[in-house]
Amino acid sequence: MKLNKHIRSLKPSATLAINTKVNNLNTRGENIYHFGFGQSPFPIYNSIVKELQKNAENNNYLPTLGLEKLRNQIAVFLKNHQNLKVEKDLVFIGPGSKELLFQTILILDSTFLIPKGSWVSYGPQIQSKGVNYELLETFLQNDFKLTAKELDFYCKQNRKVKQKALILNSPNNPTGAVYSIKELKEIAKVCKENDIVVLSDEIYSQLNFTNTYSPSIATFYPERTIVFGGLSKVFSAGGYRLGYMALPYGLKDLKDTYKSLFSETFSAVASPIQFAAIKAFKMDLKLQKYISIQREILKGVSSYLSLEFTKLNVECTKPEGAFYMTISFEEYKSKIHSLGINTSKELSDYILNNYKVALLPGSDFYFKEEDFFFRLAFVDFNGREVLKSFKKSKKITKEFIKRECSNIYEGMEQIKTFVKSL
Ligand code: PLP
Repeated sequence: MKLNKHIRSLKPSATLAINTKVNNLNTRGENIYHFGFGQSPFPIYNSIVKELQKNAENNNYLPTLGLEKLRNQIAVFLKNHQNLKVEKDLVFIGPGSKELLFQTILILDSTFLIPKGSWVSYGPQIQSKGVNYELLETFLQNDFKLTAKELDFYCKQNRKVKQKALILNSPNNPTGAVYSIKELKEIAKVCKENDIVVLSDEIYSQLNFTNTYSPSIATFYPERTIVFGGLSKVFSAGGYRLGYMALPYGLKDLKDTYKSLFSETFSAVASPIQFAAIKAFKMDLKLQKYISIQREILKGVSSYLSLEFTKLNVECTKPEGAFYMTISFEEYKSKIHSLGINTSKELSDYILNNYKVALLPGSDFYFKEEDFFFRLAFVDFNGREVLKSFKKSKKITKEFIKRECSNIYEGMEQIKTFVKSL
């Protein structure tokens, strides 16, 4: 069968592939420390589930761009909980922010710019429409955050590239880094000078370890920033498959294009889910509290790991949000080479096979294959149980991790054994 050559070359998404591999190993009785998959470990807030149950009989197709009440609610949510002013008519609902990012990539005839250290799916989504993307350099010293200087350098070198679109993600997958207001202001200035469209992936915004939400570039560059978010991370409902995007007023003319493409592809998001999502985005006080406890737990687990890696002389990014950190075994490069291992993919297989720890190789996040960077997701624990214990102890100590997040503790011990073996 002849296939579209741009699609034929795609591999299954690295994050989903590692999950399948680990599940297969687990069913064979091997206990794997699963630092590969970034799914919220916490149960979904009960009144969202109740709302879903209440609407289970709703079998109507809803409007293509989403239920009006939900779109309005998201506009209010963005104002109150992300400090963003968006037009409610320009908020659209889709089956996950991933699909909305993809449809945006399809719609824009742009050159897409991706900072090194970005989410796995942006690149394949761009390539599937038969074009390539441009990588922007980033460095570990700066937690792999894009700087205005690098963006400006690219723009000056590529003046002929007319329409540029930058994909920016904060809090970041795979680094856990959060861009500061200052950094975003500087990037926004370069974007303005070069008329860049920004796809701002803010799916982890409220999972910020020091604040209730993360700064957004849309505050400083509202005219051409499209904001993406959804239920998956902050509301622990990845499987509900509901995301949103907020188009800026400056791009309002694209609304009909989105409407046509949505109507010819997914039609509309499942009705019961849209009703349940209204409850989520209302963000009542109890839900706010619930999310803030999750933030504290994630912060505690990440701080524990950061400290252990520092003691081990393994450099890592400083997680300030989301579920991730990027770790580097570059310090041990020559010793790793002497094992006959030359790429991060080979090393992740080696660590999985010999130490039962699943890490994603940096090459899935646009780092060079030969650089020994890895994404570590620190959510391999039972969120329901950890929430209960945390309510009692109120503090995340090493003993807490050892007792309540034993896979995190033991997985870290395994990594130590690996490093000491070098
Ligand atoms: N963007 C980033 C950075 C992610 O990590 C993910 C999920 O892993 C998504 C987008 C997709 O989220 P959704 O479930 O809304 O499609």
